[in-house]
Amino acid sequence: MTTSEFELDAMRRAISLSAFGLGSASPNPPVGCVILDRDGQPVGEGFHERKGEPHAEVNALAAAGERARGGTAVVTLEPCNHFGRTPPCHQALIDAGVVRVLIAVIDPTSRGVGGVARMREAGVEVEVGVLAEEAEVVLRPWLGALHNRRPRVTWVCEVGAAGPTAIRRQQFDVLALCAGADAVLDDGGKLKEGRPGRHSADVFSLSDEVGDDPVQALRALYEAGVRTLLLDGGPDLAVQFVGGGVLDEIRLYVGETAPSGAPPTSGPLLPGGFRIRSISRVAEGIVVVATIP
Ligand SMILES: [Zn+2]
Repeated sequence: MTTSEFELDAMRRAISLSAFGLGSASPNPPVGCVILDRDGQPVGEGFHERKGEPHAEVNALAAAGERARGGTAVVTLEPCNHFGRTPPCHQALIDAGVVRVLIAVIDPTSRGVGGVARMREAGVEVEVGVLAEEAEVVLRPWLGALHNRRPRVTWVCEVGAAGPTAIRRQQFDVLALCAGADAVLDDGGKLKEGRPGRHSADVFSLSDEVGDDPVQALRALYEAGVRTLLLDGGPDLAVQFVGGGVLDEIRLYVGETAPSGAPPTSGPLLPGGFRIRSISRVAEGIVVVATIP
C-alpha cells in the first residue's frame, strides 16, 4: 500500500512535534506521533517530553480517544516493545484498535523483536522508512549517541565578534542552542543542564566539574543519561575534545569583517577533518556549521 499525501503531512507534523522533546527526553529519544481516524483525518497528536512520562504514542492516543479505532498511527520512531515505567506502545496501539502504523525510523535497540514484529503478528499493517531522512533531522543526535555510547558533542564559539559577551550570546542565539542540549559545559569546566529542571529528576546527577579526560567524562555523562552536550567556550575548552576525536559538530560565529583586510593569525578557521555543512548570514556576522564527515 502506498503512503498518501495526508499521511506524509501527518508524518511531517509528527517530526516537528518530536523536536519538542529535545533537551528534555533524554535518555529516551525525542519522538512525535499523530493519529489519523479511519477517514484519514488527524484526531490526536503527542510527543514524549521526559523519561517516566507517557510516550508520544500514548499521548496521541489519549487525545484521539475512540476515534483511533480503525485509524492509522504515524510515528517518527518504532513503537517500543519494553515494559519500562509505561507499558509498551505497540500494545497500546493494538489495544486502541489502530489498523495501520507508519514509522519513519526503526529503533536500533529493538533488534528485530521490537514493536513492528509484535504489531504485524497482531494483524496491524506496518510501513517503515516513511520520511526517515526528515525524521533523522531530529533523531540523529540521539541515534549517534546510542551508536557511539557517548553524547553527541557540539562546540559553539565566536571569533572576531565585538562587544560584551551578553550581547553576543543574544545575537548568536547560544541560549537557544542550550535549550536543545541535554547538558552544557562552559569555559570554566562547569556543567549544567541545557534547560534547568527540564529532564526527569532521576536522569541527571551531573557532577559540576569535568576532569581532564574528555573521553572518560563523556562516558560518565552518557551513563548519567546525557545524549547531547554543548561546549560553550573558546578553543581551550574544545581542544581536548578535538584531540580525543569526540567532537561532532562546530557552530562557529564569525563577527563582522571588512571587505579588505589581513587574514587572522590565530590559526585555522576549523580544526582538521571538519567539513562545512552550512553557512548563514546573520545580523552581526556569519554562522558556519561544520561536522566530521
Ligand atoms: Zn513507547
